[in-house]
Amino acid sequence: MKIIDKIYVNGEFITPHGTEIFDLINPTTNELIGQVTLGDEEDTRKAIASAKAAFPAFSITTVEERIGYLQRLYDAVVKRSDELTAVMTLEYGAPQQFAGLITDYAAKSFSNAIETLKTFEFVRKVGSSTVILEPLGVAGIITPWNASYTFICGKLATAISAGCTAVIKPSEMSAMQTQIITECLHEAGLPAGVFNIVNGLGEVVGAEITSHPDIAKISFTGSTVVGKMIARGAVDTMKRVTLELGGKSPNILLDDADFNQAIPQAIIAAFGNTGQACIAGTRLLVPENRLEEVKALVKAIVPQFKVGDPAEAATALGPLVSKKQYDRVQQYIKLGVEEGAELLVGGEGHPEGLEAGNFVKPTVFTGVTNDMRIAREEIFGPVLSIITYQTEEEAIAIANDTSYGLQAYVSSADVERAKRVASKINAGRVVINGLNHDPFAPFGGFKQSGIGREYGVYGLEAYLEPKAIII
Ligand code: NAD
Repeated sequence: MKIIDKIYVNGEFITPHGTEIFDLINPTTNELIGQVTLGDEEDTRKAIASAKAAFPAFSITTVEERIGYLQRLYDAVVKRSDELTAVMTLEYGAPQQFAGLITDYAAKSFSNAIETLKTFEFVRKVGSSTVILEPLGVAGIITPWNASYTFICGKLATAISAGCTAVIKPSEMSAMQTQIITECLHEAGLPAGVFNIVNGLGEVVGAEITSHPDIAKISFTGSTVVGKMIARGAVDTMKRVTLELGGKSPNILLDDADFNQAIPQAIIAAFGNTGQACIAGTRLLVPENRLEEVKALVKAIVPQFKVGDPAEAATALGPLVSKKQYDRVQQYIKLGVEEGAELLVGGEGHPEGLEAGNFVKPTVFTGVTNDMRIAREEIFGPVLSIITYQTEEEAIAIANDTSYGLQAYVSSADVERAKRVASKINAGRVVINGLNHDPFAPFGGFKQSGIGREYGVYGLEAYLEPKAIII
């Protein structure tokens, strides 16, 4: 059993003042695999003080120095990528193929930040003035459990690019992943205090970060409910906030799309990361007159996605992160039936032979209307709702009839047509004909999917404060 009894403050692994123990459970078997000692408010304050002390020197480092640090962080993460992947599979249940992508993506946060820094203008001429973009101060970074390394590395890479120092609070459920990524980041040998990592509960460590006057900015990824609490708490000290929250992303198949290609992609968009993705395309909008064709394809394709031991190479869907998450998803599948949707594939209960872990049957509903709760609420599991439309205008209206606006997908044989549709969708990203990701394009939500943007130039600007010098 893994015992994690240290937090990372001022460049050292230290014993926390907090004494509460949190159990780490393997979601594949529901067996106890580790225990973490959680930090408390005092630990958080110590981490904030250390980041504050490191800020004056770090904030005036040159771009070349920051690029050097980012390169060392990249190298340190890449060096242990196999271990990182294995721990993510063990603790979180991510299938190997997905966990490998996440590890790679986390490391690339640092190399992508280097690319952005190379051409970023920290000093700009605006009107007759000079505008200097200055680092904000200490950044509080609060992250969820569903792709822990990418959030920690992505946010830290941007903070470092800006010249900010950081206090990071990862999800308490990811402590084994946090331990190994912290060891990697420590190995890079940055000045003490530039980043600090405190395991702990949201309402303890997260709340202290939110209210503390020495935190200048919060970058949060997580649920909309908690995002709102952080925004409310942050306003008292006028912290800058970037909130990356939930989603209920529409995936519009236009009537001229190649369904043989678009349907498998739609299944991946919905079931990737076992459905535990903020960008999951959970509402599939299809032309009413092609519903039967869609149903036949979905029925044929979903069984090809293997559910099982995430450590096996062929597995596409692993267990959900926790028993709580399993129960929540079961409730939604039950609700879909009660609301009158038709179960096309899947349903309640475990897949046969997988009763020990938090495994869910990949589930697809048809006959869903956009007013049903399964079409409106974020389920965060492999549950897809198929909704029909009659005209392109209706498809756009359904797509936009949501309180979220993180990501959307459009498929069409005519890219210009898809672009026209994309221009009418209220979402931070619209992906056309596939599942591409661009690490330099802004990422973030319209409406209740969040505030602000991450990645590339937009992400970096969010850690900087413009100061105009007028002569
Ligand atoms: P969560 O909101 O419960 O927790 C996220 C983090 O916030 C955790 O570290 C948690 O400990 C902390 N937290 C909880 N209460 C807090 C409080 N009162 N003050 C400060 N911090 C607090 O989310 P989760 O269950 O870990 O993750 C799933 C959610 O994250 C989903 O809603 C998903 O859509 C969202 N998410 C969004 C994105 C995005 O980029 N938009 C990406 C991944 C996940």
